[in-house]
Amino acid sequence: MKFISTRGVNEQGVKSAYAIKNGLASDGGLYMPESIPALSLDTLQELRTLTYNERCAKILSMFLDDYSYEELLEDASLAYSEEKFGKNPTPITKLSDKVFMLELWHGPTAAFKDMALQIMPRLFVRALKKCGEEKTALILVATSGDTGKAALEGYKNIPGTKIKVFYPTDGVSAVQKMQMQSQEGENVSVTGIVGNFDDAQSGVKEIFSDPGIKEALERENTFLSSANSINWGRLVPQIVYYVSAYVDLVNKGEILMGEKIDVCVPTGNFGNIFACYIAKMMGVPYEKLVCASNKNKVLTDFLASGTYDKNREFYKTNSPSMDILISSNLERLLFLALGANKCREYMSSLAKDGRYTVSAEDMKLIKESFVGYYADEEDVLKTIKEVYENKNCLVDTHTAVALHSVNAYMDENKAERKIIAVSTASPYKFASDVLFALTSEKADNDFSALCELQNATSVQIPGPLQSIDKRSILHKAVIDKNCMARVTLNFAKD
Ligand SMILES: *Cc1c(COP(=O)(O)O)cnc(C)c1O
Repeated sequence: MKFISTRGVNEQGVKSAYAIKNGLASDGGLYMPESIPALSLDTLQELRTLTYNERCAKILSMFLDDYSYEELLEDASLAYSEEKFGKNPTPITKLSDKVFMLELWHGPTAAFKDMALQIMPRLFVRALKKCGEEKTALILVATSGDTGKAALEGYKNIPGTKIKVFYPTDGVSAVQKMQMQSQEGENVSVTGIVGNFDDAQSGVKEIFSDPGIKEALERENTFLSSANSINWGRLVPQIVYYVSAYVDLVNKGEILMGEKIDVCVPTGNFGNIFACYIAKMMGVPYEKLVCASNKNKVLTDFLASGTYDKNREFYKTNSPSMDILISSNLERLLFLALGANKCREYMSSLAKDGRYTVSAEDMKLIKESFVGYYADEEDVLKTIKEVYENKNCLVDTHTAVALHSVNAYMDENKAERKIIAVSTASPYKFASDVLFALTSEKADNDFSALCELQNATSVQIPGPLQSIDKRSILHKAVIDKNCMARVTLNFAKD
């Protein structure tokens, strides 16, 4: 299978290993498989008796045909081991006769990004070998919280790689900061910067585009790479759990094989929900994909009006991992639905004017599969309380955005179909807001919120977050943003 750019310039395409090694296509577009492999109901039947890791190897091998099934099975087994994810990496909780919750946060950092970032480094290292790349890959990440920690856990001690994470020292929660500062591993480095997330991100972008740094790194036999969600290697593992969840619901006797159901995904960069769309295109009987946004509802507005417009106020909300105004992976949907030429036009008007409008005719295609809803911060707090009191189920703020949207969608559409709501983080990852939703009281600080929430609910703090305040700090450094390049070079020389 070949991978081509969403902007259509490198028509010939590259093998999947190159797409994973390169991250971004040379014309600035994102890599997509040139066709979507089909998954028949018979094949879905066959998946019923397989483990998650076997399902994973099977689905991945349909896209990554330059990797062997055995390689993929080995990677999946190491990525989703019982030690890291418990017995079942993707459990489903039944909330009512019609609503099921797919929990994707049982990995080492308690957020769904582990699902991709535990296996992607393994796919990446194999990609280096397959491409004959002998230099060390230095993974450079700017983070506003969750991605940094998940990338550190994924890349730690992975041979042939080093990882450097920059975070805004006053722009992440105390728990997130401690998670990163206590990171263990031979090949990891974490540095705070004085400034906000945008400063960290611009600093990283400058390093990526500086030819002098590239040369200096080459002298150290090193090259830069990124771990963000526009890399195909991060997207493809996410398709697996959408296939697997459907099969699990059949196995539980909740749906019949072939029965159409809906899915609701709390969305920021449009990566997670897009993976669900690919599963649908492959043949998994998903009907509507409900795109759930927070107050930064640029996607809700796009799906309603056809106009994508990032020129608007940016809100910092209680679901911070979805505080995004440019949903990068939407480009992949435009490409699939409308083709490379239109996709390229829209992306250039997004870059120039910050907006674009898709014609009503073209929106019809997109609306066949997608519908948009959103939840503001009050909706989130109310939903957390309701779901806890009525269903005895404790959910985080991002999951609450999805559950609120599920209710609104089902009410408005008198929905007949069953629906999966995707749960993307442990409630303890955002303990202060969850505690506030339940008790209307603010905790003294982020750390005490963990214990207070446990006392209030008797739901156990997950392993990765237990005694987080007692960890030893291994990465103390905080630097001026102008020093990021020098610090990166020094780390490469280490
Ligand atoms: C990253 C993240 C999201 C958004 O996922 P996208 O793939 O960017 O749409 C939602 N919830 C949590 C907890 C996240 O960390």
